[in-house]
Amino acid sequence: MDIAVAGAGYVGLVTAACLAEKGHKVACVDVDAGKVALLQSGKSPIYEPGLEELLKKNRERLLFTTDGAAAYRWADVIIIAVGTPEEPDGSVNLRYVREAAKQIAEAAEKDCVVAVKSTVPVGTGDQVERWIEENRKNPVHIEVVANPEFLSQGTAVKDMLYASRIVLGVESPQAEKVMKEVYDPFALPYVVTDRKSAEMVKYAANVFLALKISYINEIANVCEMVGANIEDVTAGMGMDPRIGSQFLRAGIGYGGSCFPKDTKALHWLAAGCDYELKTVQAAMEVNEKQKVKLIEKARTYVNHFCGLEVAVLGLTFKPGTDDIREAPSLANIAVLLEEGANVRVWDPAGMENAKRVFQKEVVYCSTIAEAITNADICFIFTEWQEIRQFDIRQYAALMKTPLVLDGRNCYSLDSAREAGIIYESVGRERVC
Ligand code: NAD
Repeated sequence: MDIAVAGAGYVGLVTAACLAEKGHKVACVDVDAGKVALLQSGKSPIYEPGLEELLKKNRERLLFTTDGAAAYRWADVIIIAVGTPEEPDGSVNLRYVREAAKQIAEAAEKDCVVAVKSTVPVGTGDQVERWIEENRKNPVHIEVVANPEFLSQGTAVKDMLYASRIVLGVESPQAEKVMKEVYDPFALPYVVTDRKSAEMVKYAANVFLALKISYINEIANVCEMVGANIEDVTAGMGMDPRIGSQFLRAGIGYGGSCFPKDTKALHWLAAGCDYELKTVQAAMEVNEKQKVKLIEKARTYVNHFCGLEVAVLGLTFKPGTDDIREAPSLANIAVLLEEGANVRVWDPAGMENAKRVFQKEVVYCSTIAEAITNADICFIFTEWQEIRQFDIRQYAALMKTPLVLDGRNCYSLDSAREAGIIYESVGRERVC
């Protein structure tokens, strides 16, 4: 099939690469000329395992362009994968979706299906249909389908090629038939429903995971108070198939471009119907507090951060990505800088993006050892393999005071004891 994808971000680019891998011809459109130029030169603008290889392997079936009109004109299916950022009140900014819909409506010269893959509030499919009708230039029939995406950054390629399900929200058998032509080569299970239900699946699923994280973080907090060990608790819980072990890792809260925004959007959506989603409200509040939990713990060791040498390991909101959007590290670094600390950071993938947030305020280090040398305190915000595998004894050897506050439980308590460091983690006893 001839497919166009609007947006070459984390979702659009992975979608384009995977559809090409399955034999489709894909034109991937982005308004960011720099991103498109990079892609045309064979480089990926984002760090995502396996993506660059897939782009190279399928380059004959992939086209990158800023010319939306040319890409949409003759496409059988156009997938909208542009950003849907949050507004200050928690609602969703649909500006980019509206622009893409308008461009498609003006360009389309044959019947086609527009599949909305961006995460959008329930009812947006109807709105996209209206925007298309208002701007349509040619007598063509354009069907709008909801096709939410469930990939996780860091494992996005695998998540898309071997997804647990393809959700299609369709309003006609014809649209369903076309979308199945797109996805049949993946040989994955389908959930076919109406558009609004499909839109709701995405929020209900994402927010459920956020709830799970906040729940286990609260259990971890109580574990610390009563002397239980969260790692053992979650091992015992996770083996129950009704619970499952995924998203049961205690830490310093969720971040990224999805959970924070989607929890707020679902809460806002329900509030618009005069319904307060109390579980979601609680999950959001717990997360906000959890994010700066380590700072509060650090305050029990030092009176202030002013003039202290502080090492920060891990900037991205999770390992395997260069994305720092809404990462807990940002909120923590902001507090440290505000209070006058000298901050030295290390991250294997996120430093380029971090430089757009903190230019000269922090020192970017090329190794973990460089970041922690002579530090008074070390914070760990992301569980990168490089950090997990770092010799824990080096903290004692290189830091001025070996005080390590680990928000992702990267080390065993035994290894911390043997290393002779002061070690605070989440949901586990303090080592000192
Ligand atoms: P992103 O910010 O990485 O990418 C969006 C891209 O769209 C940008 O490159 C931007 O330049 C481009 N764009 C904006 N307007 C455009 C237009 N009119 N035409 C073409 N391109 C345009 O965003 P993302 O992380 O890929 O997320 C996209 C959507 O998918 C969001 O709704 C998000 O909630 C959802 N989603 C994201 C993830 C994730 O893990 N990132 C997972 C599932 C769903």
